[in-house]
Amino acid sequence: MVGAGSGWRREKVGHFIGGEWTPAGSGRWYPNLSPWSGHVLGQVAAGDAEDAYRAIEAAHEAFAGWAAIPPSRRQQIFLGAAGILESRREEILHALAAETGCGRHFGDVQLGFTLKLLRQAAQLAYRPTGELLPSDVEGTQAMAVRRPVGVVGAIAPWNASLTLSGRAIVGPLALGNTVVLKPSEEAPYTGGALWAEILQEAGLPPGALNVVAHAPGEAGGIGDAMLASPLVRRINFTGSTPTGRRLAEKAGRHLKRVVLQLSGQNPLIIARDADVGYAVDAAAYGAFVHQGQVCMCARRIYVERPLAEEFGARFAAKAAALPAGDPSDPATVVGPVINEWALALLDRRVNEAVELGARVLAGGVPRPPCYPATVLAGVPDEAEIAQGETFGPVVILEAVDSAEEAVARANASDLGLAASVITGDTRRGLRLAARLDAGIVHVNDQPVNDEPQMPFGGVKDTGWGRFGLGFAAEEFCDLQWVTVRDQDRAFPF
Ligand code: ADP
Repeated sequence: MVGAGSGWRREKVGHFIGGEWTPAGSGRWYPNLSPWSGHVLGQVAAGDAEDAYRAIEAAHEAFAGWAAIPPSRRQQIFLGAAGILESRREEILHALAAETGCGRHFGDVQLGFTLKLLRQAAQLAYRPTGELLPSDVEGTQAMAVRRPVGVVGAIAPWNASLTLSGRAIVGPLALGNTVVLKPSEEAPYTGGALWAEILQEAGLPPGALNVVAHAPGEAGGIGDAMLASPLVRRINFTGSTPTGRRLAEKAGRHLKRVVLQLSGQNPLIIARDADVGYAVDAAAYGAFVHQGQVCMCARRIYVERPLAEEFGARFAAKAAALPAGDPSDPATVVGPVINEWALALLDRRVNEAVELGARVLAGGVPRPPCYPATVLAGVPDEAEIAQGETFGPVVILEAVDSAEEAVARANASDLGLAASVITGDTRRGLRLAARLDAGIVHVNDQPVNDEPQMPFGGVKDTGWGRFGLGFAAEEFCDLQWVTVRDQDRAFPF
């Protein structure tokens, strides 16, 4: 099979610990498989808890030096990293296609985001680090000083590997922390080793960023080491709600703060006064970009009844015509899903919905390794696909009497990441936005949007905490209250 990454390979992806590339302590490796061709792209260090503890130790040792580095130097490193990332654009796009099945468009989106992330991180170096506070105690000067916490553990998924690992490490580093990154087993290079290469070349001191990879199904040992080690002061996790919940339960035992960005079941609401052509284009992008493997993707489209029939017909026709295939082909919209397991899950959930009475308006039949853009209608609430998150190019269409009913239906979900409303009446759109239980709402757009400076995160079982550089200080710094007296104080005894 040709394509997907133009023959991109990386023979060995080791751990990166204390500024050195190293094999796993156990000496084990695992094959990194391309979701498009099934070819082995190289061997990856199959790490475990022992490797994680080595990385944590290295990060801890590097902390004092990195936290104290002059802002001009820190700024130079992030700007340098942006330059290196940009100069490697073509090769990185190939790697994303080969390793994760990421097409050209979404690869460009990831690169665009991470370039801005690094450049904005460079500006953080000169951000004020605290405030002077008025005090009623005469002679006391008080301040709130923002301090880096120390070692941050970062656990990232495969789906937008470059972006999501990038945001998991860059904010914490820019605030003076050191990091141990655990990429997904599906993206050990583009979500892990690549970041180490770029930041090392840009001059990041040894130990400030460490990367520990692992074989499929073996994340738990590394995650548990991060949770158990008292040297790790915060963890950020992007992934599914079930895994995030398990992590948070354990974190509670260790009284460790975690930022959790978990699953979404994102509604797109189309009001009766929407422009149908625009709504169809927005919905197709929102549901099917990166073959529906983005946490913000529209999973449910609610259409006010007067528009439902026309929208349904035009949307299904557009979905049916979206080309599926090699992610390296610029004409491809729907590339491969990440692995056979994901393909089988999509197939099973769509078939179950159909058995329960759902109608397939487009797609619905796997074309391995792709699953085509699929539109379902009449999906009963008890169908698995109507509950939780199904990661892939399948969307549920539902006619509603009013957008207010759609808001109530959407708010019945346990999840609350992104939502959007398309309407000719922006003021009504804003009123609906205010009632949606979601961390992110877009009016007159589809839900897949991100910029590094925005407060990104969800409510309810989508987790807590916000990514976004301006907001990262809340998550990855401690505030210290410091006072100093300019005169002795009179004590009562
Ligand atoms: P996804 O469906 O996106 O793979 P997961 O929640 O399974 O969602 O994975 C997200 C990240 O969580 C990946 O890096 C994965 O390796 C990691 N992960 C999976 N299980 C655990 C665990 N028990 N502890 C820590 N991390 C885990």
